[in-house]
Amino acid sequence: MGLSSKFAGIVGSEYYSEDRAVVEAYRDTLFPVDPEKPLGVILPETTEEVQAIVRLCNENNIPIVPVALGAGVNGMNLPIEGGIIMDMSRMNKIHDIDPDTMVAVIEPGVTIAQMIKALEPYGLMTSYPNSSPPSSVLINIVTMKGSGQHITKYGTADYYLQGVEAVLGTGEIMKTGAGALDSSDWHFRYCLGPDLSGLFIGSLGTMGIITKGAVKLAPVSKYTWSVALGFQKIGDAMKPINFIGKHRMADYINGQYWYTGVITDTDYPWEVNGGKAHLPLDYMDKWRESRGLTPVWFHLAIEGADEREVEVRRRILEEYLDSERIQRLDMSNDGWYHVRDVQIQGTISSIAARICRHRGGGWSSLVFIAPIKKWGEILDPVIDMGRKWGFDPTYLLKVFGPYAHTSQCRFVLSYNKSDEDERARAKNFTREFTQHAVNNGGVIHRQTLQPDVVMAHQPEYFEMLKQLKKVVDPNCILNRGVFGLRPDNI
Ligand SMILES: Cc1cc2nc3c(=O)[nH]c(=O)nc-3n(C[C@H](O)[C@H](O)[C@H](O)COP(=O)(O)OP(=O)(O)OC[C@H]3O[C@@H](n4cnc5c(N)ncnc54)[C@H](O)[C@@H]3O)c2cc1C
Repeated sequence: MGLSSKFAGIVGSEYYSEDRAVVEAYRDTLFPVDPEKPLGVILPETTEEVQAIVRLCNENNIPIVPVALGAGVNGMNLPIEGGIIMDMSRMNKIHDIDPDTMVAVIEPGVTIAQMIKALEPYGLMTSYPNSSPPSSVLINIVTMKGSGQHITKYGTADYYLQGVEAVLGTGEIMKTGAGALDSSDWHFRYCLGPDLSGLFIGSLGTMGIITKGAVKLAPVSKYTWSVALGFQKIGDAMKPINFIGKHRMADYINGQYWYTGVITDTDYPWEVNGGKAHLPLDYMDKWRESRGLTPVWFHLAIEGADEREVEVRRRILEEYLDSERIQRLDMSNDGWYHVRDVQIQGTISSIAARICRHRGGGWSSLVFIAPIKKWGEILDPVIDMGRKWGFDPTYLLKVFGPYAHTSQCRFVLSYNKSDEDERARAKNFTREFTQHAVNNGGVIHRQTLQPDVVMAHQPEYFEMLKQLKKVVDPNCILNRGVFGLRPDNI
């Protein structure tokens, strides 16, 4: 029996395809890279099917790329070295919602929209990325160490993780957390010895294919109060934002450089310049001023289960803002609703469509993690660097809580996908951005495709990663090429 028939035999012929139109869809990317053409696309429904596919690929040295819902940016779900695409969207069952232990057990195909709906009757939530409603709750939490809308309050999304079930590159099944004990609920992230869930956090599919996982639940806050703060320069914001963050005065702290109005204001003049080139800075300055915006602004929110709790915290925050004479911006403008949608509700789909339209379909999010005290030093040069390569100065900042130890600095890169020159500039800028971030002690977040730049700074760490990979995936079939892990170097 040929390999194609064997794949089809595992899942049924309607869930395995080598059809060009189907396969090509998984190769398409907003990121400026050119992945290989995959051999086929397979959609398993159970852990046993995942296991059988992995075993078959391992025996035949075929790379596998797991794709949850395919919304991951920066080319992280692409067949860099070809192989089989394992589309997880059929594994979309919610196995359990336990409102007493405040844990849910879900599969990787469970979407944000599905989970919000399922938890609504309980008044509960879990971590959601600021991504599109069809993206995966579990994959963001586990493999992407995501930055959802509660990042300031709780920290990165892995705070919510209680354990996983994963199929390793050898086909073995591994469970972590209290769920590894057959009789136990998944009430605790840890089991015997070290935290093995950590092996999968941030792994982007290189350490195992997640087939199930347990996530913590939290109550949805009933009351929210928000305020927008204006600053002339990022340097002016560093001290007060650090103070507010480390004293837990707000539950969301998100900053933006003014050009990010591109993605937040409904009135943005899309058609000027045919959307093909950045708008002249003086035009943008007038646009910004007409809305009463400062070059840098921060959106802060306080939330609580009770109005009185929010009121007490609001007074503490406002006293501090008054004492430091920090400017408040008028949030009555319609555009602010988009800021709130993204940051509080955590759904960004309409905005994503606008970003793509802005410059011709190409889009990526270049992200590094750095302490707030480094913003002035690291961020301002990034704006100049972007301009040098011809890209708009759009960045977003998120304070990682709960005590503001660090922050996410994200450059939103939009470019014309069909313009070869612009693609090449986007690639060069991405590389320079990565180099700049690591030279300044920034941690590159979810960058899968420039491992040489990152690993050159940490060869011992890379060596350890290779040793781990050898144990869980000796033939390097899982997401081959990601983080520079290949059969010839592990
Ligand atoms: C407009 C937009 C804005 C965004 N903003 C944010 C943001 O503010 N914060 C944030 O954190 N994220 C953000 N994201 C990224 C977002 O988090 C991801 O889109 C989402 O979390 C994961 O997407 P997905 O479920 O489609 O996973 P995919 O893209 O399918 O997969 C993501 C990675 O996980 C691997 N993977 C998939 N399934 C499995 C599996 N079962 N086992 C092991 N590995 C697997 C893939 O190979 C890939 O490396 C944004 C995305 C978009 C499109």
